[in-house]
Amino acid sequence: MAVLIDGKAISKQIKDELRDKVAELKAQGREVTLAVIQVGNDPASSVYVGNKKKACEYIGIRSLAYEMPEETSEEELLQLIDELNGRADVNGILVQLPLPGQIDEDKVIRRIDPAKDVDGFHPQSVGALCIGQPGFVSCTPAGVIQLLKRSGIEIAGKECVVIGRSNIVGKPMALLLLRENGTVTVAHSRTKDLKEVTKRADILIVAVGKPRMITAEYIKEGAVVIDVGIHRDENNKLCGDVDFETVMPRCSAITPVPGGVGPMTIAMLMNNCVESVL
Ligand code: NAD
Repeated sequence: MAVLIDGKAISKQIKDELRDKVAELKAQGREVTLAVIQVGNDPASSVYVGNKKKACEYIGIRSLAYEMPEETSEEELLQLIDELNGRADVNGILVQLPLPGQIDEDKVIRRIDPAKDVDGFHPQSVGALCIGQPGFVSCTPAGVIQLLKRSGIEIAGKECVVIGRSNIVGKPMALLLLRENGTVTVAHSRTKDLKEVTKRADILIVAVGKPRMITAEYIKEGAVVIDVGIHRDENNKLCGDVDFETVMPRCSAITPVPGGVGPMTIAMLMNNCVESVL
């Protein structure tokens, strides 16, 4: 029977540890401050921003909310980032993506001071990860590593397969598994015979962005399966990239959706905020 990896419980554990750390910092007269910028009022983005604010409150991080109208120009947003970069009392800056079409996302990401880049999207942060130097790590893949470690799953020497090569999940995920001494394969939309590749995996990380695409025939008996995907199905029910019902009986451990990777992303964002003052 597969072990269910409980992302809700593990993320709570991390947030509680961070809350203690923030209290210690406060006792030394130091405060952690995150600035969150939202442009426009996309409902999904508003939910994400709201959840980030709630997590900050729980941990004791001061959050500053900047809500800018949909028609904000690139220049106005860059000016705000410059101002926040220059403020000594702001430790982390997060720009909620996606941005409206008139704004170049890459330009915005590059403008954030890498020392405040708590999302870990700045090319300097990504480069540091690539060559094993300290820097902020993208929150979702960092959360996956925590799920594995805190569930007692050894990564070193294991065959790890990542499906997906996006800049925010697949690529940093592969680099992190490599840092943990896994033997890493990255599969993607041009991979030939995906099943043959995924069936080698002791640890399979799925970030393919296709609801329930990964079924039992992609899985080696006893594998650990981490499902990064998040979708609403035809009945408006949340589901992942993995067909949980058929895959679960084949694996040794698996993350559910919801309650797996999802809660870890915010926990790791909070972790990056605390690290920004250390
Ligand atoms: P993306 O669309 O940017 O990337 C998907 C990747 O899958 C691409 O690299 C592509 O090459 C690969 N792919 C597509 N079709 C394929 C196929 N048939 N076979 C093999 N590979 C294929 O997506 P993303 O931003 O990396 O996100 C992936 C999933 O994770 C999405 O469902 C997204 O909603 C979810 N997500 C969840 C969180 C979270 O906090 N839980 C965070 C980010 C993303």
